[in-house]
Amino acid sequence: MTVLTNMQTRDVEALLHPYTNAVTLRQTGAHVIESGEGVYVTDADGKRYIEGMAGLWCCGLGFGDAELVDAAKQQLDKLPYYHLFGGRSHEPAIELAERIKDLMPSMARVFYQSSGSEANETQIKLAWYYNNARGRPEKKKIISRVRGYHGVSIVSASLTGLPYNHKSFDLPVDRIHHTSNPHHWREAHEGESERDFSARLAAELEEMILAEGPDTVAAFIAEPVMGAGGVIVPPEGYFEAIMPVLHKYDVLCIADEVICGFARTGEWFGHQKLNMQPTSVSMAKQLTGGYAPLSAVAINQDMADAIEAHSGEIGIFGHGFTYGGHPMGCAVGVAALDIYKRRNILGHVQSIEAGFQRRIRSYADHPLVGEARGIGLLGALELSPGGKAMFDQPGKVGARLAAELVKHGVILRAIGDTLAFCPPMTITEDELEEMFAPIETALDATHHWAK
Ligand code: PLP
Repeated sequence: MTVLTNMQTRDVEALLHPYTNAVTLRQTGAHVIESGEGVYVTDADGKRYIEGMAGLWCCGLGFGDAELVDAAKQQLDKLPYYHLFGGRSHEPAIELAERIKDLMPSMARVFYQSSGSEANETQIKLAWYYNNARGRPEKKKIISRVRGYHGVSIVSASLTGLPYNHKSFDLPVDRIHHTSNPHHWREAHEGESERDFSARLAAELEEMILAEGPDTVAAFIAEPVMGAGGVIVPPEGYFEAIMPVLHKYDVLCIADEVICGFARTGEWFGHQKLNMQPTSVSMAKQLTGGYAPLSAVAINQDMADAIEAHSGEIGIFGHGFTYGGHPMGCAVGVAALDIYKRRNILGHVQSIEAGFQRRIRSYADHPLVGEARGIGLLGALELSPGGKAMFDQPGKVGARLAAELVKHGVILRAIGDTLAFCPPMTITEDELEEMFAPIETALDATHHWAK
């Protein structure tokens, strides 16, 4: 039995941790992280780790970036808080929105919140408001996907297609439906090509829209690449098959770019890389490099026109968060977008992604690995006891592998039995080498333990 340190005891007595088994935590104690620099973090015992998940997929520019810290400090000195309610505004919010629009020319207006969950909550409220504005009060259902991750607030958790986000929370709420997960390796029929699988999923989506009634379906929401559901890259031709179905039935297309946005997939946005044509886009995480809690929803001209006109008829657009568009968050966002361009982060990702993907795929034949996959600087090793079989106790082997890697100074995240990789995008070749160095040994040790 581990003896908890003073800090660990304070932790379990004071905190309820997100996504944690509270009973196990009492035995193991929390891993307390104290500082970060570049791609490394250091824990309370002074041990240094490569942070191979960029925190929670957010610190794309690494830790301790002086420019981001200065941007926050300067804004706090100048105007630490203001809001955008009732016609007030401030320049950091305006400037960041302009820069987002520059990156996504089909988007017309930007609305701010503090988190990805709130961004998707806003998305659904906007879809409903838009259809009320258009005189279609019945067109309100939202189609999401099994294993999609869109957050944890009541509606965003309902959109999320993972059982533990629903179980014991009385979710999902009504009006939210889930269509199939586009994971070719696990879900395709024997011998079905990626293109045929994509066509089948598009046909299934169409059947769902027809069964529900096209006049009742408002929007489809998808991450270009699923992240927290296990890094699932869509099969060839997926969005090319899905988009015409959405157009045919006048269904909005919401791209959840909370993980994929800002160069992660090797393009500025995942929807650009994967040929998704969204009517609106959710962004967070790398929007500020994780240095400030800020999210943004961008909407196209048609939605903006309808929503603005409707607010005129009703007298108000009755939605907004106290911290939405926080000046410090927006100033950090502007600085982050500056850095992405000035330091050519997209070019860097494009120059190292092949080596990163080659390394991920080099474990494909390990006896503990079912599938090795990824895109850009996102990767995953899905573990299995053999072929596509699942472990009897899901999540145990994945957790063991992640714990093995911690011993070797590498922090990665086990999503069930899938090991996810999402390093800071500033990572160098040498640091990549260091991150991958213990993987084989840790896989061997975990394989031996799992036998
Ligand atoms: N959408 C996606 C794609 C995410 O990955 C996440 C979080 O990981 C969210 C939404 C929810 O964001 P938050 O945790 O900031 O509410």
